[in-house]
Amino acid sequence: MSTNGTSSKSYIEQPCDRCGSPKVVSETWDQAHETISGTSTLKVSQITCTNEACQAEFDKNRAEEVMRINEKKMKKEEQDKIRKDNIAQTIRERKESKLLTN
Ligand SMILES: [Zn+2]
Repeated sequence: MSTNGTSSKSYIEQPCDRCGSPKVVSETWDQAHETISGTSTLKVSQITCTNEACQAEFDKNRAEEVMRINEKKMKKEEQDKIRKDNIAQTIRERKESKLLTN
């Protein structure tokens, strides 16, 4: 991501890779980033296609992608919780067996 500054400019200059329509910056905002030296702000721009149907399709796909990522994240968290519970259980059992043998 070191060429972000230049590539994002050329990215908007290129026609949409889905339908060939020109792109437009629909929104720009400052995004705070936590770094070692503190918080730095990064300018983020939302680039959309001027073809509404194409953009709607893209938004739909992205929403589905976000849903998939969230689902994966939730499943991972669930598994992590189960794993932690199992570890805690194992530790408990070990302690109990130690108490029994001693
Ligand atoms: Zn497009």
